[in-house]
Amino acid sequence: MRVVKVTIDRPGCISCESCWTLCPDVFEQDPNDDLSSITEQYRVEGNTAEGNVPDDLADCALEAADSCPVTVIFVEE
Ligand code: SF4
Repeated sequence: MRVVKVTIDRPGCISCESCWTLCPDVFEQDPNDDLSSITEQYRVEGNTAEGNVPDDLADCALEAADSCPVTVIFVEE
């Protein structure tokens, strides 16, 4: 299965809620710092800022990236 790499420059996140509202399979709010993080199942080695996401979630990850007002989500296909 093809995967896409999703990264979040977490320190730049302003917790606007857009990404985890649009794409909750990939993004969630970290209860520790309120910033966006990758959902647990897709984290790379537990890293909340980096994920390998299945291809069928690429579109919503891209939509979330486009919606981010501070442009801190990156999707590499
Ligand atoms: S869309 Fe951007 S600013 Fe908003 S919660 Fe997600 S990462 Fe943070």
